[in-house]
Amino acid sequence: MATQIECARLLTQQAAATKDAGKPVTQKSAMAKLYASETAVRVAEESIQIHGGYGYTKDYPAEKYWRDSKLCTIGEGTSEIQRIVIAKNLLKSL
Ligand SMILES: Cc1cc2nc3c(=O)[nH]c(=O)nc-3n(C[C@H](O)[C@H](O)[C@H](O)COP(=O)(O)OP(=O)(O)OC[C@H]3O[C@@H](n4cnc5c(N)ncnc54)[C@H](O)[C@@H]3O)c2cc1C
Repeated sequence: MATQIECARLLTQQAAATKDAGKPVTQKSAMAKLYASETAVRVAEESIQIHGGYGYTKDYPAEKYWRDSKLCTIGEGTSEIQRIVIAKNLLKSL
């Protein structure tokens, strides 16, 4: 989980650095958004699993983190749309 979070952070920072450098950022930002969003969901879900029944209840914040992170794969460009953007960019560069 920590490794996936670190990868998501690095992709995001790389996209930000590319933007700061004034270079084209569409591909890097789409990859960062896709990976960070889906990592957040995976990690939040695993956290529920680790906590067992308590993770599922509203007594603890684990279930809220899962619901909140899920929005990241839907809002501001769904994961499917990010994949289309990435694929189109890859095919364009062939
Ligand atoms: C809590 C919440 C807050 C929001 N806040 C805002 C906001 O502040 N401002 C704002 O503008 N919007 C906001 N939205 C809307 C959000 O941006 C949209 O829900 C999102 O863009 C997806 O659009 P849609 O719901 O119409 O899904 P649809 O476009 O109907 O898509 C449904 C599903 O089909 C997939 N899909 C669609 N087209 C394709 C395709 N060509 N190929 C493959 N798969 C495809 C999508 O990825 C998705 O999984 C919010 C949504 C939620 C849930």
